[in-house]
Amino acid sequence: TGLIVSFGEMLIDFVPTVSGVSLAEAPGFLKAPGGAPANVAIAVARLGGRAAFIGKLGDDEFGRMLAGILTQNDVSDSGVMFDQGARTALAFVTLRADGEREFMFYRNPSADMLLTPDELNFDLIRCANVFHYGSISLIVEPCRSAHLKAMEVAKDAGALLSYDPNLRLPLWPSAEEARKQIMSIWDKADVIKVSDEELEFLTGRIDDESAMSLWHDNLKLLLVTLGEKGCRYYTKNFHGEVPSYKVKTVDTTGAGDAFVGSLLLSIVDDYSIIEEEQGLKEVLKYACACGAITTTKKGAIPALPTRPQVLKLVHGSLSAWKDYILTLL
Ligand code: ATP
Repeated sequence: TGLIVSFGEMLIDFVPTVSGVSLAEAPGFLKAPGGAPANVAIAVARLGGRAAFIGKLGDDEFGRMLAGILTQNDVSDSGVMFDQGARTALAFVTLRADGEREFMFYRNPSADMLLTPDELNFDLIRCANVFHYGSISLIVEPCRSAHLKAMEVAKDAGALLSYDPNLRLPLWPSAEEARKQIMSIWDKADVIKVSDEELEFLTGRIDDESAMSLWHDNLKLLLVTLGEKGCRYYTKNFHGEVPSYKVKTVDTTGAGDAFVGSLLLSIVDDYSIIEEEQGLKEVLKYACACGAITTTKKGAIPALPTRPQVLKLVHGSLSAWKDYILTLL
């Protein structure tokens, strides 16, 4: 299959050992490796696809641990750099009793923000069939320039560009700046995925009209994820909704990244599948199943599904999916 290259941050989330407490009340924390672009690369590899991650880590124990997680999951680390001076990014994250997520970032600056355009592995970027990125790498220099350069090289080499803004408001100087910078690379992407909250942040509303106001001429597919409800899709010619699956949710972290990983793997070898509505709906069924399964286990990376898990959820029982496989042979 084709190669999916994901660009951006990889970091460690520290999550409280007990749920429903504020950061100050937490008695202790567990390490949960993450960073949306890294999660997407691992999601692709877990499903059997070829993936690489590009980003910078600290030359410290946490950085080496994260690089190890990439390679243990069959994600190429040939685009990973190590900074000699700055530490690997950390974030303390909690889901408080009132349901609000509270973030505290340690990035002053962290290694991920210090990737320079010169440090990019251009050979790797030119091999990408799909090049995926977020918006956190746009916040400060020199990473911002590295991000823009990598996008340009990938596009020139013929890659499909995939964008999931993954808004983290506390990292931006202001909401206005976040909106402006997120939109500054909007019309470069071929595929864009936003959550319903991000749609509201960008347009002030959540409806078809507001989603379509985000359309641009070169866009092939716009997706709005709706948590347990599934997702809505928009193309030049049609739009609609695909429901998700009922599962026992324990932690939604990484659901969006699993969704994107599955989507990109489904289209990496043949983008034209998204031009036909039935084909696209089929692709999105699997993406929703991947997102749903990811919510059934704590953390993002440990919860990302394998292909048999997804087929089992989509096709009912394991024997049902075996029958389905036989029809394909
Ligand atoms: P993230 O928490 O990673 O930032 P996101 O907000 O980008 O996620 P979501 O809408 O939460 O994205 O989830 C992505 C997809 O995963 C959804 O479109 C849906 O198909 C599936 N999903 C998420 N939460 C659930 C759930 N509780 N039950 C079933 N499916 C879910």
